[in-house]
Amino acid sequence: MGVKSMKIIRSPKEMAEFAKELKANSQKITLVPTMGALHEGHLSLVKKAKEEGGICVVSIFVNPTQFGPNEDFAKYPRQLESDFKACENEGADVVFAPSAEDIYAPDFSTYVNEETISANLCGKSRPKHFRGVTTVLTILFNIVKPDVAIFGEKDAQQVSVVKRMVRDLFMDTEIKTVPIYREESGLAMSSRNRYMDPLERKGAARIYKALCEGKRISDSGCTNVDRIKAAVINSVSNAKTRVIYVEIVDSETSLPISEVVPGKSRISMAVWYGQIRLIDNILI
Ligand code: AMP
Repeated sequence: MGVKSMKIIRSPKEMAEFAKELKANSQKITLVPTMGALHEGHLSLVKKAKEEGGICVVSIFVNPTQFGPNEDFAKYPRQLESDFKACENEGADVVFAPSAEDIYAPDFSTYVNEETISANLCGKSRPKHFRGVTTVLTILFNIVKPDVAIFGEKDAQQVSVVKRMVRDLFMDTEIKTVPIYREESGLAMSSRNRYMDPLERKGAARIYKALCEGKRISDSGCTNVDRIKAAVINSVSNAKTRVIYVEIVDSETSLPISEVVPGKSRISMAVWYGQIRLIDNILI
């Protein structure tokens, strides 16, 4: 059974019932969780989901619990209508776009917390961010009941946290990933890139260039994390850029390592580029 035209579902109850029906018909469900303002990077996840066969569900939900009090939740870009069109063009079967009120009861009080991986990298400057991510994904997994969920390596730490959560809690969803989708300049695509004018976007490509410089040093045989980190920081630094962190981590767990293991390590970084917080990473 395929779904003929794309279904748009707003109600969690309706989504859960539809998922139950699909399961009863032995349909495979693949979920692509997003916060909308979809770009080519997101659509590469949808393409991967389509390759899985079965039913492809894209969720669009700007999740309030993963934003800190001084972050950009209120002004995060929202463009549901064009997102629906993009999903339909990509062949998604269902878009699940609930409201925050439908997901979080006024007296909501249950959170899912991964405690080790989440404490590093972005977790240091965004203390409750990953708790919000793991909580909303647990909710979405319970509603959509996906056999597979697709994530982008752009958010490599998120992938590590989610894989750990799924393993620790015996969740019945397989986590698959797609590579980082970049603009021509090398800048990783992000919904937040639209806050930048073309000149700033061009300038922000220095983040990827700095990662490539780190990779070049690693490829030349250097396994010293401090040397690679220093080179990346040096390469990215300018008047507009404030480094939040540059870390060399295990590519699977995203936990910091003391020496590079070639092919199994990653340089992860976050910077303020003007007013915009950007993250990126590269395998080494
Ligand atoms: P977001 O809407 O930012 O929460 O992202 C939803 C999903 O899309 C996450 O799994 C992201 O890692 C993924 N994603 C966002 N940008 C990119 C990109 N440039 N390349 C690959 N995946 C991405």
